[in-house]
Amino acid sequence: MDQTTIKELSHFLEQSPTSFHTVQNITDILLKENFTQLQENQKWQIKKGGRYFVARNGSSIIAFAIPESGITCMRIIAAHSDSPTFKIKESPELESNGHYIRLNVERYGGMLFAPWLDRPLSVAGRVVAKDGHGGYISILVNVDRDLVLIPNLAIHMNREANSGYKYNAQKDMLPLYGNLSAKGTFMKTIANAASVNEKDILGHDLFLYNREKASIWGASNEFISCGRLDDLQCVFSSLRGFLGAGAAGPHMPVLCVLDNEEVGSNTKQGAGSTFLYDTLTRIHDSLGYAREDYLIHLADSFMISADNAHAVHPNHTDKADPSNRPYINGGIVLKFNANQKYCTDGISAAMFRDICQEADVPVQTFTNRSDMAGGSTLGSISNTQVALSTVDIGLPQLAMHSPYETAGILDTEYLIKAAQLFFSR
Ligand code: ZN
Repeated sequence: MDQTTIKELSHFLEQSPTSFHTVQNITDILLKENFTQLQENQKWQIKKGGRYFVARNGSSIIAFAIPESGITCMRIIAAHSDSPTFKIKESPELESNGHYIRLNVERYGGMLFAPWLDRPLSVAGRVVAKDGHGGYISILVNVDRDLVLIPNLAIHMNREANSGYKYNAQKDMLPLYGNLSAKGTFMKTIANAASVNEKDILGHDLFLYNREKASIWGASNEFISCGRLDDLQCVFSSLRGFLGAGAAGPHMPVLCVLDNEEVGSNTKQGAGSTFLYDTLTRIHDSLGYAREDYLIHLADSFMISADNAHAVHPNHTDKADPSNRPYINGGIVLKFNANQKYCTDGISAAMFRDICQEADVPVQTFTNRSDMAGGSTLGSISNTQVALSTVDIGLPQLAMHSPYETAGILDTEYLIKAAQLFFSR
């Protein structure tokens, strides 16, 4: 992969500490590419040949390009903008023994606890304040300095630490913010970072994030490690493929980046919501199509649900299925699950393999061991709102849901190539 793309991927990961930042960064990129931003609370006037995007809640975004000749079908890639982390609770400051100030946090999604400990963390998200004109304004905030840390208990005080310790989210995972002198300053720190008065902040959605930068490493620099590779590696690659695809049509390329996958997708902006359905039907309405035209186009459409996959772990090779064993830098992973946690079937697998063959991109396969329950993703959930032939894929990675995950340099390029061909072929 060329060095510029690696740098851009690293930059994208580092600049996207929360789903709000991810969507802002995608917005900036789309505006630079002359896409027009649509608002859900305003009438849409869209034209054939136009390129548009719409966001919901500032944390989910859908971009699309209308073919000059009109729509015959849709080519959709969906990925997710969120990652497991800790959300700052209301009344966040907690005094400890009259000497320390900690922050009260709540887990968001299912993360590995241990790697969150003993590393510099910061806080990012959004605050909501009065705009001075009778309305409200949502402001992105990133404190962007080493601000808090969750200290481990020393081995001398926890002799069982190396033989399987059960972490308690309310006891073990609270970050240290300062000495007692820090009392009452946390929301001031946030207000300063957001450039608003503390008293004007009426609401917030703030999260912890790992401060460590992306690292390219390994004997031949074949690995990349960073927080949030699941699923920002797929988001970045799909976006690059989407932008590189050039003129659309006769199919309509659609890129969806949706929030809340890590907590089940059933929110107003998640894959379980009407966001994609509303957007697709609105596009059709706005262009004067009948409802039946939408259904006909949908029946001819295809979706790629792109969410990272588990690579075989070098120290735990027995945890992988005996015959479906994806490796890092071995290619895009097709995901299968008999119980339909993944929506790949014979037809969508065949179509995706065909795309990858044409793009000259290797494909690997993943299923869980039959005696292990696996995860799920947004494809099947999205299909309950917008039903179309869908394939579940991902890029192979290690340490999924750690605050510092590891994936492959080559695989990123494979998905960019496959996505570009998918959107343009
Ligand atoms: Zn994921």
